[in-house]
Amino acid sequence: MQAIVNISYLVAVILLIQGLRKLSHPSTARKGNITAAIGMGLAIIASLVAPIESGANNYLVIIIALVIGAIIGLVMSKRVAMTAMPELVSLFNGLGGACAVAISFIELYQYQSSFTSGESVEIGSHLTTQLAMFVGAVAFTGSLIAYGKLAGKIKDWKIPMSTYVNIGLLLITLGLIIFRVMMPDASFILPVVILVISLVYGVTFVQPIGGADMPVVISLLNALTGVAAALAGIVYGNQMMLIGGILVGSSGTILTVVMCNAMNRSLFNVIIGGFGGSTASGGQQGEQVVKEATVNDVAVMLRYSDNVMVVPGYGMAVAQAQKTIKELDNLLSEHGVNVNYAIHPVAGRMPGHMNVLLAEADVPYPKLLDMDDANDQMGETNITLVVGANDVVNPAAQDDPSSPIYGMPILEILKGQNVIVMKRSMNAGYAGIQNPLFFHDKTRMLFGDAKASIQGLIDEVKSLG
Ligand code: NDP
Repeated sequence: MQAIVNISYLVAVILLIQGLRKLSHPSTARKGNITAAIGMGLAIIASLVAPIESGANNYLVIIIALVIGAIIGLVMSKRVAMTAMPELVSLFNGLGGACAVAISFIELYQYQSSFTSGESVEIGSHLTTQLAMFVGAVAFTGSLIAYGKLAGKIKDWKIPMSTYVNIGLLLITLGLIIFRVMMPDASFILPVVILVISLVYGVTFVQPIGGADMPVVISLLNALTGVAAALAGIVYGNQMMLIGGILVGSSGTILTVVMCNAMNRSLFNVIIGGFGGSTASGGQQGEQVVKEATVNDVAVMLRYSDNVMVVPGYGMAVAQAQKTIKELDNLLSEHGVNVNYAIHPVAGRMPGHMNVLLAEADVPYPKLLDMDDANDQMGETNITLVVGANDVVNPAAQDDPSSPIYGMPILEILKGQNVIVMKRSMNAGYAGIQNPLFFHDKTRMLFGDAKASIQGLIDEVKSLG
């Protein structure tokens, strides 16, 4: 039986890696998700039938837990609005951390009987279990804070002297873990204290980081959950859990590096904070005025241009305008207009957010240009259509050293001839700062819900014949 279980684990790991590979391209992402889900299903079945030391699995409890978990997961994923997907992903990530906490806490509790009866526990196992609990707890409460921030339920506020508080909490927790491992005794108070401080550290670690730095934190928390799962896999001696954790941990780490590069920030700078709080003002606009365009003006401009660049942002997700944009794209393409899409790596509220939405609308992948390619083509663009994007096109990131997002690479849309910005008001984007783009000579604002505005453009272009 053990041999069958091991082979099933191997097949499950291959399926997970295949799934991850397919997830890296929009055209194969759906298949990748299914492949990985089959791998995970196989791993669950294999671990249910795997022989265990005590000889008896508690199937009733396990099946009840599986059914409850499956129902909650199914209902949540069916009900969640596409715009709330990033929050849901953060919540799921936090639950992964909570699992690692539960596993290691129970394991630590069981070590207690060994200590009480004077037996020792191998230092390596004890340390790994303590670390799994610590990392899992940070990922758990950190992800809950990230969830709250993405959902707009928790505002960015800086904990006084947060850097020192965080360094202090980190050193205290690691110190207590080492102390506990070196001097285990029969009291269970210390592991409980370590757990509480780790949970608090998750909050104080993520709370001060805000504004435009959130993408980095989200991928970092993802990596931490993977590390916690891998450590829990070592605790249980379960290769499947170990490899699954390593896959999540390493892909989360790669994503963190990609996000840091996208923001032109070092991880250290993100962690010590100070970038893009929601109260930041970033540049004075004084008495500047914006120029408004009508749907008719924009439709004529679009119909008679050669190159149009669509810049999608979070507002496209809110308006669910991706299919309507594709319709406009089809219409303009019929008239010989070349339409492409400029994708900023942190546009929207989760990595790959814009790619997912546009793939759902069947926009051909070659039309989706990454930031560097898009910036290279901006010079030949007649009209740039900004659909609910704000921070990712804010020129203050390049021109205004006082701006909280100064240094972040942006889509350089002012290299093009005309810019049309679709949004509902003059409200700021996620980083909470004003955007000088809206006041620029080349820019016209088309106010209103993006989907309704694009539908209006489609009707007008059609009426132009
Ligand atoms: P922003 O959040 O900067 O701006 C979105 C804009 O969309 C707003 O200014 C809003 O203006 C407009 N909008 C909202 N609803 C609609 C609608 N129905 N129709 C038209 N417009 C609408 O988005 P960006 O994509 O430019 O930037 C992403 C930001 O989110 C960055 O700061 C990034 O760091 C951050 N972030 C990204 C994550 C990621 O992983 N990608 C994760 C967490 C944060 P108005 O209200 O006036 O309509």
